[in-house]
Amino acid sequence: MTDTGRQRQANEDSLFVKEPLFVVADGMGGAQAGEVASMTAVQVFENGLLPGDPQQSLETSIALANRTIHDRAHEDAALAGMGTTITAASVDGERDAVVIGHVGDSRAYRLRDGILQRLTRDHSLVEEMRRRGQITEQQAEDHPQRSIITRALGPEPEVLADIQFVPSEPGDLFLLCSDGLTTMLDDERIRDLMIGSSSLDAATRALIDEANRAGGRDNITVILFQVEDPARPIPDRDGPTLITPASGHRRAKRAAASADGRAGGGPRTGAILARAAIALAVVTVIAGGLFYASRQAFFLGTDDAGRVALYRGVPYELPFGVSLYQERYSTAIQTNDLSPARQDSVTGHSLRSRSDATSLIEDIESREGI
Ligand code: CA
Repeated sequence: MTDTGRQRQANEDSLFVKEPLFVVADGMGGAQAGEVASMTAVQVFENGLLPGDPQQSLETSIALANRTIHDRAHEDAALAGMGTTITAASVDGERDAVVIGHVGDSRAYRLRDGILQRLTRDHSLVEEMRRRGQITEQQAEDHPQRSIITRALGPEPEVLADIQFVPSEPGDLFLLCSDGLTTMLDDERIRDLMIGSSSLDAATRALIDEANRAGGRDNITVILFQVEDPARPIPDRDGPTLITPASGHRRAKRAAASADGRAGGGPRTGAILARAAIALAVVTVIAGGLFYASRQAFFLGTDDAGRVALYRGVPYELPFGVSLYQERYSTAIQTNDLSPARQDSVTGHSLRSRSDATSLIEDIESREGI
């Protein structure tokens, strides 16, 4: 089920459900481009996966979706820069597993024995910071920059997808969703709604309704499917819970132990993350279309020689010295020579569109008589 939510005019999410394939895509881009991107992504799955190894086939389909979106974005100026997330699941009955392919910040979860385990890792700036221990899980959930993703289908001709093989047992319940669900509800609330529902449909409805009650700030897409043994179908449920006794083994402990290990926070973490939070707080998100920030966003800053310069990307560095920005142009003007207000517009590192950033820099140059 997919829902526009309470605040957006359009629904840029797409979904595909045809057993054994399930796909969620969350499109981003100006005008209708996001819808085109997510729809293009799911259409690739309409004819199923290629025969052969399911992991390889899923990877091939995601690569094809990426290339198709990338090509369309280059052929049509109205679609330039469009992109989408993808989270795709293929049930592999032969091997009692679900193969999951993933790019972006949509998610896959598995509910087993009452424990909801997140299976995918968000490709987002905030998740990178959380993994480095710079911010806590709680801060990540409330972070204003959480919509900035670091990987998407479309912006580049090639994309690296996370492909994983998840063993499944009868009774396992899988959830695929867009971030319109997970930005509104935390994992505990999602779990409670799933186990408190009497059917897959009821659980799907409950999740979407609750995300809307919490504000519905974004499009919400939810896919739920349950794995069963064809020889012992799970009976129609009229009880209060979706958790079935069908999975014979108690794996709760193991699942809990492996559920998304977080970085430990030592005594010094507080100061470091406070600085990180302040550094990021000065970044202003361009409403709406900012998704692949290192490509789409620009900011003004001061280069090594103290001059006002134009950068593409976001003012942030990933581990191993990977910076998310590039210098595009530097002026002959020293930032220190500007008026205090002007200096603020340079040192604040606010994210801007290309045209905003270039007009600001032109403005600075013309006032300084260059
Ligand atoms: Ca979204």
